[in-house]
Amino acid sequence: MNTDTTIADNGRTETFLKAASTILGPKGLVTDAADIEPWLTDWRGRYHGKALAMAQPSDTAQVAALVKLCAEHGVPIVAQGGNSGMVGGATPDESGRAILLSTRRMNAIAIDAAAMSATCGAGAVLQTLHEASEAQGLRFPLSLGGKGSATVGGLTSTNAGGTQVLRHGVMRALVAGLEVVLANGEVLDLSTPLKKDNRGFDLKQIFIGSEGTLGIVTRVVVKLSPAVAERRVVIAGVESIHAARRLMLECEAAMADALEGFEVFPQSCLDAVLAYVPTAQAPLEGKHAWYALLEFVADKAGANTLGDAVETVLADAFEEGLIEDAAIAANEAQAEAFWQLRETISPAEKAKGPAAQHDISVAVEQMPDFIVDASRSVIERFPGHEVAAFGHLGDGNIHFHVIAPAGSDAATWNRDEGKAISSFVYRLVTDRGGSISAEHGIGQDKLQTLLETHDPAAIAVMKAVKSALDPAGLLNPGKLV
Ligand SMILES: Cc1cc2nc3c(=O)[nH]c(=O)nc-3n(C[C@H](O)[C@H](O)[C@H](O)COP(=O)(O)OP(=O)(O)OC[C@H]3O[C@@H](n4cnc5c(N)ncnc54)[C@H](O)[C@@H]3O)c2cc1C
Repeated sequence: MNTDTTIADNGRTETFLKAASTILGPKGLVTDAADIEPWLTDWRGRYHGKALAMAQPSDTAQVAALVKLCAEHGVPIVAQGGNSGMVGGATPDESGRAILLSTRRMNAIAIDAAAMSATCGAGAVLQTLHEASEAQGLRFPLSLGGKGSATVGGLTSTNAGGTQVLRHGVMRALVAGLEVVLANGEVLDLSTPLKKDNRGFDLKQIFIGSEGTLGIVTRVVVKLSPAVAERRVVIAGVESIHAARRLMLECEAAMADALEGFEVFPQSCLDAVLAYVPTAQAPLEGKHAWYALLEFVADKAGANTLGDAVETVLADAFEEGLIEDAAIAANEAQAEAFWQLRETISPAEKAKGPAAQHDISVAVEQMPDFIVDASRSVIERFPGHEVAAFGHLGDGNIHFHVIAPAGSDAATWNRDEGKAISSFVYRLVTDRGGSISAEHGIGQDKLQTLLETHDPAAIAVMKAVKSALDPAGLLNPGKLV
């Protein structure tokens, strides 16, 4: 607890904490600084804040009562799920005035097999949702590297993407309904299971991607898909990012919806992963400029023919000179090992040292040219740096990382060159009509860049929505809007 605040405000903080403790019960309010500390730094370790206390409500009623109390006392609220976000959105500022609202205890998952949906507490972890769905012969078709920590509430609030967007879309497409606690403590239930409902605005979409600035998401109904009957995971070595794009078009033409994921990464990212994960193995003999990771899936009807179809499309691509080498995972363990190579790139890159990370998108067909041109421009303008561009080529979304020269001091580099590099990269992206945030959101990391690069009319609408729903500005202040 921030004792200076307690003394200075004539006991108002103490009164607030006492009332919060009554609402939340003995497990629900953490005031010990050492227990709160691990949750005050973001995943990338770039932001560190302070909090008055950490609330751990167990249900919607507790969230609603707490939010109402915060409104009465003027206490800001920062919602936090798995704290795996990439833009500092779940980290409070340094004032110590805010309460950190952790949803981790609200983690129930109820699968409705008949409706092909799952009703999840905001704190349900993505990997647990995968397992619960699979146990019922279903699946939740969104996955990402942070799945062991990321929560359904966090995924909803950041409108997360991941590795299956190509076929299933981002979180916006997968949320069937949600429940949210508004800034005044009122509960808004938008979890109607109706497939068609045209009563005006689709209000749930306002909260999806709002990063805790418009309300606290307490419950989410997500759409499930039938379990995959068969899958083939392939890694192909290709000579250029343009060849990777041509390979993708070829696979889409031949296999249509069976192509569920198409990710790319250069040799340098693979090297980083092999150095970081002791058990990881190179998937192909020899080195290749780029690797494409492809996942093909089939339902029961197509299960028997999937293997042959994948072999044919790869053989054709090989003959046309599109791929240099390829391996089809022989079993589930190898398929998972291939995916692990892709999903461990972020932590492996993080371990290499400071980097300016840009989660950007341009039109899908422009992405190969963008990667080549932007990499050249960055290296010319900032000699000694290294570019690692990897990710979701099929969605026109690449994580364009610029890595500092070895031995750079992180704080100095982040403050000076890192900032200059980011401005440079975002200018290249906006010049191509792209987005400075494809899937990670804005948080505190990109707030200024959003203001500088986005359409002023769009910013004005966002501000109007914010002041209508949170007039006192208590929900995640300093983030997004
Ligand atoms: C290794 C790794 C790989 C990743 N890969 C991807 C990827 O491919 N695609 C992608 O999109 N993301 C990716 N991420 C980022 C991250 O996993 C997502 O942003 C995820 O949605 C964050 O979920 P969380 O529960 O950890 O949210 P947090 O980090 O806890 O919070 C994120 C934001 O949501 C708000 N929030 C959280 N819960 C609530 C709630 N219940 N109500 C209101 N607001 C809330 C927070 O205030 C914050 O602004 C990756 C992360 C890691 C660590």
